[in-house]
Amino acid sequence: MMRPLAPDDFITPPPAQATPRLRKVSIVVPVLNEERSVAALASRLIKSLEPLGNPFEVIVVDDGSTDGTLAALRKLNAQDTRFRAVSLSRNFGKEIAVAAGLEHATGAGVVIMDGDLQHPPETIARFIELWDQGYDVVYAQRTDRSDNTAFEKWSARSFYRLFHFLSGTELPDGAGDFRLLDRRVVDVFNGLGERARFNKGLFAWVGFRSIGIPYEVATRTHGASRWRFRRLLKFAIDGIASFTTVPLKVWSYVGILVSLAALLYASVFLVKTLIWGVDVPGFPSLLISVLLLGGIQLISLGVIGEYLGRVYEEVKGRPLYIVAEQIGFSEVDGTKPSDTSKTPSP
Ligand code: UDP
Ligand code: MG
Repeated sequence: MMRPLAPDDFITPPPAQATPRLRKVSIVVPVLNEERSVAALASRLIKSLEPLGNPFEVIVVDDGSTDGTLAALRKLNAQDTRFRAVSLSRNFGKEIAVAAGLEHATGAGVVIMDGDLQHPPETIARFIELWDQGYDVVYAQRTDRSDNTAFEKWSARSFYRLFHFLSGTELPDGAGDFRLLDRRVVDVFNGLGERARFNKGLFAWVGFRSIGIPYEVATRTHGASRWRFRRLLKFAIDGIASFTTVPLKVWSYVGILVSLAALLYASVFLVKTLIWGVDVPGFPSLLISVLLLGGIQLISLGVIGEYLGRVYEEVKGRPLYIVAEQIGFSEVDGTKPSDTSKTPSP
């Protein structure tokens, strides 16, 4: 026989707190011709990670190096199997190398860092601490850009302002790729369908509970930065183009303005002719038709831009929304809590 329900039956005990301690961490490092930094990076990583006790793996993505980087990575793996390497067939650029690393990482958390020792491995301890407190994204913010010239600082600042203004996505000040992502974020990131990758923007776009911590960028010990002006410009254009279609659509508005100006001028001219008569025959009507036609053409370009922009948004195939957590679903229909992203059905 069933015993009568006691009030306590309605209070389910809290689920045993999944201890956040000592989860596995993957470190993803994109490298291009860093043969002289690999060994130092490995020893500093070991020195700063081992005391934490978390199991870890390091996935170095060789982005088509032409020096001895790959050989150095083979040697490293032979000495310590926690170091693995993915070698890309050619240079695909850092953004894609990072994406490759994230797809190969198996940890419950993934740290992305540069291979040139500009990102101090000692910061990772702080990342893990905040991750254990429940943050899904911990990003490092460089405290000062003293290495850069005034022009570089100015152009970086203007770019981020423009990016925010056009796309509505705000990028945290001084945050780069150096960060820790929880497995949930990595899974969403791996599922993004787009090919033009602007990681900084995508990290901000996917959201989740995030926190920034300050760090000081070290100076490069070997080699030089690969971010020359042309590359930076391409990076900036990629960033804006993959986060906004404003440049495509703005022409409608320009066209409307030009057409309005033409109509205004036409009416002023009409009144003027009626009152004072014609001074230079033929010229105003020519100007009006050029302006009006130009305006109409711009409007139609903008209309094409509107549709093209929509096609572009669809083709990117980004999820409509991203679920951070599902509460009370798993018992009902067996939905996997790890099923974090919903893609609109085609
Ligand atoms: N990198 C890469 N592919 C590239 C360019 C750079 O994997 O096409 C790597 C590089 O080896 C380094 C990191 O990305 O580990 C950051 O590059 P870099 O130091 O040139 O950039 P900066 O520090 O000036 O932002
Ligand atoms: Mg660097």
